[in-house]
Amino acid sequence: MKPLVAIVGRPNVGKSTLFNRLAGRRLALVQDEPGVTRDRHYADAEWEGRKFTFIDTGGFVPGDEDQLLQQVREQAQLAVDECDVIVFVTDARAGLTAADEAVANFLRKSGKPVVLAANKLDTTTGQMLALAGEFYRLGLGDVQALSAEHGLGMQELFDAVTAKL
Ligand code: GDP
Ligand code: MG
Repeated sequence: MKPLVAIVGRPNVGKSTLFNRLAGRRLALVQDEPGVTRDRHYADAEWEGRKFTFIDTGGFVPGDEDQLLQQVREQAQLAVDECDVIVFVTDARAGLTAADEAVANFLRKSGKPVVLAANKLDTTTGQMLALAGEFYRLGLGDVQALSAEHGLGMQELFDAVTAKL
């Protein structure tokens, strides 16, 4: 059985961009407007001879802050039920948000293996990587610095996912 890996997080953090990068193909719609991924997308990927199936989550409809939190939590619940490992994506440029904290609390209680990723770290300067630091506060262990757009941090991400299997 190929391990199922779900990509979760609030809208606009770069989940679909990461999914496309991992899939090596463009399968999910990426847009500046939150709420574009209506359905779940599945893609197989292989890394160093190991096969995975990744799931892009989304399906957010516009709403107020409470409605957003509810939807992000529902997606996280589906991921917890369905998957072996969860990649929890955050936006390091935007910084830690209430929605990130809600997802983190939920995932921590679920006991599922979680790989926490801080995305949009497009350069490897110290200043940029320092932005990942605040996500340690979520209490989910190590933070993987990523640039889904530029393909940075992918090896480390696969290594972290594999270590949780
Ligand atoms: P999703 O809603 O979480 O699926 O996010 P998307 O993948 O649709 O991306 C939302 C926006 O963030 C798009 O404008 C992407 O181009 C942008 N984005 C995604 N990854 C990166 C990244 O690594 N760096 C930067 N600078 N922008 C990114
Ligand atoms: Mg998306």
